[in-house]
Amino acid sequence: MDVVNTIGEVRNIIKNAKKLGKTVGFVPTMGYLHEGHLSLIRRARAENSFVVLSIFVNPTQFGKNEDLDKYPRNMERDKTFASQAGTDLIFAPSVEEMYRKDYSTYVNVEGITDGLCGASRLGHFKGVTTVVTKLFNIVTPNNAYFGQKDAQQASVIRRMTKDLDMDIEIVICPIVREYDGLAMSSRNVYLTLDERRAALVLSKSLNQAQALIASGEKDTDKIKEMIVDNISKEPLAIIDYVEILDYNTFKTAHTIKDNVLIALAAKFGQTRLIDNIVICL
Ligand code: AMP
Repeated sequence: MDVVNTIGEVRNIIKNAKKLGKTVGFVPTMGYLHEGHLSLIRRARAENSFVVLSIFVNPTQFGKNEDLDKYPRNMERDKTFASQAGTDLIFAPSVEEMYRKDYSTYVNVEGITDGLCGASRLGHFKGVTTVVTKLFNIVTPNNAYFGQKDAQQASVIRRMTKDLDMDIEIVICPIVREYDGLAMSSRNVYLTLDERRAALVLSKSLNQAQALIASGEKDTDKIKEMIVDNISKEPLAIIDYVEILDYNTFKTAHTIKDNVLIALAAKFGQTRLIDNIVICL
């Protein structure tokens, strides 16, 4: 496995791989790898002959008062995990390599970025779509792998590639959870023991919503109320949003039907966590 920090090095290596007829699978991440990231790398390994992982904590997707400076980083640990999961090349650029002094171009997806994390993290998706476009232009992958964990992000990237005619297949992979149901996240390391226990309320509420739907409930207001009640009973949780949406349009769903997304975000102490499920009838 190679580890490089410059765009020029990536381009050379990819050019040679493509000359040999290899297909390129790409997994963009911010590092501090966990099983969720590794599941994407393994999927890319299974479906491509050359696997590229990027590790870049992208400043343009963080708000002013967010956790950019304290975001967990550990390159040595990431290298070991990435290599074991089947990565061929890690691209770990500096901020200066990605954003030169006079940087002034941004990519923005409208509409589906308005709600959920787009509403509570202003400018977040503009940062995501800009950096992913840059990474796509550098890596030129055939296939790119994203997690369902960030459901809105995955839809935004799909929309962007479609709208901008990018010839890249976007593959969305299932959420990987801890043994007790908590969705894996690099940010879980911030949680105190009490917050870690409290955070389980997110996946539990989603499971209860699923059970309510299985028992025949179709009224999304009632389901939302149950989830909000549930999370509000947890003293360490502060709700950011609970939304039930049509997964294609990201518009509010008034009744349960196929392909409805239930998405949650809440803060536990300083740590903001998200989780979701897609209802398939
Ligand atoms: P991040 O490093 O948080 O930017 O995540 C990089 C990629 O890994 C994104 O496509 C995420 O959706 C995905 N990812 C993060 N956590 C999980 C998880 N628990 N299960 C599946 N994919 C995940």
